[in-house]
Amino acid sequence: MINVTRSFLPELADYIKYLEGIWDRGHLTNHGPLVVELENKLRDYLGVKHFFFVNNGTIALQIAIKAADLKGDVITTPFSYVATTSCLVWENCNPVFADIDPNTLTVTAETIEKVITPQTTGILVTHVYGNPCPVEEIEVLAKQRGLKVIYDAAHAFGVEFNNQSILNFGNISTLSFHATKLFHTIEGGGIITNDDELAHKISYMRNFGHNGPEAFYGVGVNGKSSEFHAAMGLCLIPKIEHIIEIRKSLSEFYSASLAGIPIQYLQIQPGTTKYNFAYYPIVFNTEVELLKAVKALNEKQIIPRRYFYPSLNTLHYVTNNLDNDNATAISKRVLCLPLYPDLAMEKVRVISDCIRLQLC
Ligand SMILES: *Cc1c(COP(=O)(O)O)cnc(C)c1O
Repeated sequence: MINVTRSFLPELADYIKYLEGIWDRGHLTNHGPLVVELENKLRDYLGVKHFFFVNNGTIALQIAIKAADLKGDVITTPFSYVATTSCLVWENCNPVFADIDPNTLTVTAETIEKVITPQTTGILVTHVYGNPCPVEEIEVLAKQRGLKVIYDAAHAFGVEFNNQSILNFGNISTLSFHATKLFHTIEGGGIITNDDELAHKISYMRNFGHNGPEAFYGVGVNGKSSEFHAAMGLCLIPKIEHIIEIRKSLSEFYSASLAGIPIQYLQIQPGTTKYNFAYYPIVFNTEVELLKAVKALNEKQIIPRRYFYPSLNTLHYVTNNLDNDNATAISKRVLCLPLYPDLAMEKVRVISDCIRLQLC
C-alpha cells in the first residue's frame, strides 16, 4: 500500500540515545533540556528571532490568535487544512474568506482587500503546500489598514522567500510538526515572531500564564511539549537537507513522468522562492477526471489524498459564504500524489502511468 505520505523515522539507535538521557535526568516535560536544545537549533536553522516549541500546530494557531488579539472578523483562506478555519471559530472569531489565485492557490492582496470592512481585525492565511503568500503586497495592505497578520506556515518549514525564511514575514507565523509533515516531532508545532512584546505574551500563554511558581502574567493554556517529542526533532534536524533533496528529486521525476497529461501544476509564487517540496499537488480539468484517477490508483493500493477538499467556506459551521469561486472549483479538482523520502522512483512512474491511462 502506498499512502499519500509516510512518516520519516530516524535510526532507532539515535532515538534510544536520547531516551537514555531522559531516563538519567528524570526530566520528562516542562521545558526540559531537549526542548531547549531543539528550540535553539530550530531558531538558528530557520533564521528567526523568537521560536517557541509547542505541542501541536493547532495550539500554535490558537495561541497566535490570542497573542495578536484577533477578535471579530478575521480574513482567512478557504483553501487550507480545516484547522486554519476551525481555530478562528474556536477562538470566537468570525472567518471571512478571501478567494485564492487559481495558479499559486494562495490568497492575494487584491482578494483580501475586497473583503476588508471596518470590522476586520486581522488576517490569518496559509502558505499552502509551502508556497509563499504574496507577503510583500500583504504587508503593504496590512500596514495601510492597521491589520495584524498571522501566517499558517504548517507546510512551509525551510521555505525561503527573497533570501530569508518565509517565517520572518507577518506578525506571527506558526508551524506544525505532526508526523505527516516534512519535519516532525510526532506531534508538535512552532510559533515564530520577531516582535519582543508578542514573544513575551506567547511565552507565558503557552505555560498557563505563569510568571514564576505563584504569580501569573495573564490567562494561558498548556502549549508545552515533552522531552520525548523534542528528541524526535533533534534526531531529524541533521537529516532535513537530505529529506528535502529526495523530495525534490521525486517531484522532478513526477513532473517528467506526467508530462503531456492534461493537468495543471502548482505555480510557485513569483519572486526568489526556495521551495521545500512538501507536497506534490496536481489539478485536474474536471472532478470526474479526478475521481476516475483516484479509483484507478486505489485499485492498485495507491492512496492519494484530496488535499484540500472541501473548500472551507462551505463548512456548515461558518456563516460567511462570500464569493470564493476559485477555491470552491479548485478544491474539487486538486489531488496530492504520494510523496515521501522512502517512495521508490519506480512507484512514481507507476502512479504517473496510471493517471495517464485514465486521461489520455
Ligand atoms: C497540519 C496542519 C495544521 C494543524 O497542525 P497539527 O500539528 O496537526 O495540529 C494547521 N494548518 C495546516 C495548514 C496544516 O496542514
